[in-house]
Parts: sequence; C-alpha cells; structure tokens
Amino acid sequence: MEWPMLEPLRDSQDAAPAARCGRCGGEVYKNERMFRSDGKWLCIDCFRAEIESMLRSNPVFLADVLLMEHREV
Ligand SMILES: [Zn+2]
Repeated sequence: MEWPMLEPLRDSQDAAPAARCGRCGGEVYKNERMFRSDGKWLCIDCFRAEIESMLRSNPVFLADVLLMEHREV
C-alpha cells in the first residue's frame, strides 16, 4: 500500500519569538498564551507543570483556587 505524500508542515520557527518564558527560557510565539505566576510569565508547558505539581502536592489549595467544594468525611 502506498501512502499519500503529506504537505510539509509550515515551520513556525521562521517567525521570531514574541517573548521568552520566565522559567524555562523557551521561545513563545505571537498568538500563543502566557500565564503569570509569582511575578513571572510562563509558557504553556511550565504552566501545566506548575498546575500538575500543585495538584499532586496540595489538591485542597488547588480546589480552593478553582472555587470547588471539598470536604473531609
Ligand atoms: Zn516555560
């Protein structure tokens, strides 16, 4: 079976970065979102890592921030 040739993906690296992540230093491009945490603007990957870490270490605090109910039983 022959697979159709795919069009080459556009290389977004042609564009100059619009900003750099305040944590990892990674490049962030125009129209990508950044997240402010502890005074630093983070890329999406660092934001995800921070939330995942918070979820593991202190889920009660995260639930409070998200205005979610929680209770001891
Ligand atoms: Zn980052």
